[in-house]
Amino acid sequence: MTHSDRLVDGFGRVHSDLRISVTDRCNLRCTYCMPAEVVFRDREELLTYEEIARVAAVAARLGVRTIRLTGGEPLVRRGLAGLVRRLVAVAGIAEVALTTNGLLLAEQAADLRRAGLARLNVSLDALHDEAFERIARRQGLDRVLAGLDAARRAGFSDIRINAVSVRGLTEGEIVPLAVFCRREGLHLRFIEFMPLDADAAWEAPQVLSGREVREILAREVGPLVPATTADSGQPASDFTWADGGGRVGFIDSVTSPFCDRCDRLRLTADGQFRNCLFSTTEWDARGVLRSGGTDEELAALLRGCVAAKRQAHGIGTPEFERPARSMYQIGG
Ligand code: SAM
Ligand code: SF4
Repeated sequence: MTHSDRLVDGFGRVHSDLRISVTDRCNLRCTYCMPAEVVFRDREELLTYEEIARVAAVAARLGVRTIRLTGGEPLVRRGLAGLVRRLVAVAGIAEVALTTNGLLLAEQAADLRRAGLARLNVSLDALHDEAFERIARRQGLDRVLAGLDAARRAGFSDIRINAVSVRGLTEGEIVPLAVFCRREGLHLRFIEFMPLDADAAWEAPQVLSGREVREILAREVGPLVPATTADSGQPASDFTWADGGGRVGFIDSVTSPFCDRCDRLRLTADGQFRNCLFSTTEWDARGVLRSGGTDEELAALLRGCVAAKRQAHGIGTPEFERPARSMYQIGG
């Protein structure tokens, strides 16, 4: 494949990672993501697994190598392991990964592993029932913990735990999460709160920065030292505990964006390509798929999407425009 066959945008960034949302439904209602009351898309609006696999094959021919399944909560869509199996078989795809809230992992981890799922990110913001429910508007902590156990028994290693940091909401859970993940050998990553909450309540002062979280950890758990990250596409700055015992990453999407290294594209559950979480434009893959379009037409659509990618998301600048859709509708 020559450079010109690949998905290169106007700033020279080569795109090799596709995030595919399989549903906007979810069994939690995290305040930083979803509204308390929600109307989901009709099922016919969602791409079928056949349609998703076709898009993945076209993307792979253009140099996409890794796929991450997300949502909404991907494990609420029936037969997800079957989709994993199809995607793993797509020529050129080196890795299929999943981001999940973990509630249904205990039931599905072994099937997903057998289907060829390579990696797991589990979102977990709290280790106390009361805090979990305050953040997620639902109970479920014990199920997430059971899911983590099952995932490890099924053979998943290097599991990442994603925790969103919101000032006034999550501070009390930072130290317990760090201590737990260190003890359990889990790679914890703190993600800054982005303006993608359905309630549109995000305000800059609510962003609890990675730097502040690092200071809390250094003060209350122990000193952290910067670690080298093998994968330059990773958005996290990784640290290790000075006295050994695991990694902690910081995805400072607001205070220190990784746009200059971004290699990600997205396909929403209803079949729209996006070149950024903060895109205000979408490219209608479902329209092409359902009107008898060819693979070449799909490829051209994806190229157009990449070509239009902006240099940076621009949060905090006067030009920043909040996207109409929120995180659960885009796919985080
Ligand atoms: N339901 C799955 C889960 O929670 O892992 C997958 C979808 S969820 C939208 C993907 C990730 O986005 C989660 O780690 C979640 O914490 C994160 N997220 C959701 N809303 C966010 C926001 N406003 N800012 C930062 N991260 C957010
Ligand atoms: Fe659901 Fe994930 Fe959004 Fe929480 S972050 S409401 S688990 S989609």
